[in-house]
Amino acid sequence: MTSQIILYGIIFLYGIIFGSFLNVCIYRIPVKQSIAKERSHCMQCGYQLKWYDLIPLFSYLCLGGKCRKCKTHISIQYPLVELANGILYILVFFVCGFQVKSFLYCFLGSALLVLSVIDWRTYEIPFGINVFIFILGLVQVAADYENWLSYVIGFFAVSGFIAIVILITQGRGFGGGDMKLMAAAGLLLGWKLILLSFGIGCIVGSVCHLIRMRVSGAENVLALGPYLSIGIMVSALFGNEMIQWYLTTALG
Ligand SMILES: [Zn+2]
Repeated sequence: MTSQIILYGIIFLYGIIFGSFLNVCIYRIPVKQSIAKERSHCMQCGYQLKWYDLIPLFSYLCLGGKCRKCKTHISIQYPLVELANGILYILVFFVCGFQVKSFLYCFLGSALLVLSVIDWRTYEIPFGINVFIFILGLVQVAADYENWLSYVIGFFAVSGFIAIVILITQGRGFGGGDMKLMAAAGLLLGWKLILLSFGIGCIVGSVCHLIRMRVSGAENVLALGPYLSIGIMVSALFGNEMIQWYLTTALG
């Protein structure tokens, strides 16, 4: 029991440490800055963050969400992304146990987190993140090569449909980034789970967007990335059980 708690504590720590790297990606990828070179600094006064300013979650809490030097408010997005990534890693290992797939799903979840925030803000899904997910897919195919066909079909199952919609509507409705995301994630999850991801993503997306349009008068432009990401992650973690439940209970 104690060892379990320590283990998940370590997983959480890894999660928030990677999470703080994800924040760097979220800010630097859209403006094409190097994610490795420059040191982190305050956006307002240029104060270079010291190591003790860079401890995930804790630095933010200790500083009360303000820059050490100029006291400008630091976006809540930083600790939220770190916390979300920490919780995500715990969830993945809790649900999937200790196997290769869990590491792939942690990386997948982190990539989805980054692309969701970027897509939300810029309406673009960075190509590099889709390539990263595609590489995770290749690893999964190699690890489970007896079922390679399921993954290859997964690559085309949803992306092919989106490609047709893009052709017919001339680019409205879906973006090229959405198509590439569903291709890469399809290779990683296989055709059953990617179809389920797409279904969940569309339902969650329509409901949330309708509410946002009513409540806050959000524009008609819809960044699909975050909703597709939710669909992909829910489906990756719980999809097999959901399909199993559907086949046995709902179809009797
Ligand atoms: Zn500052």
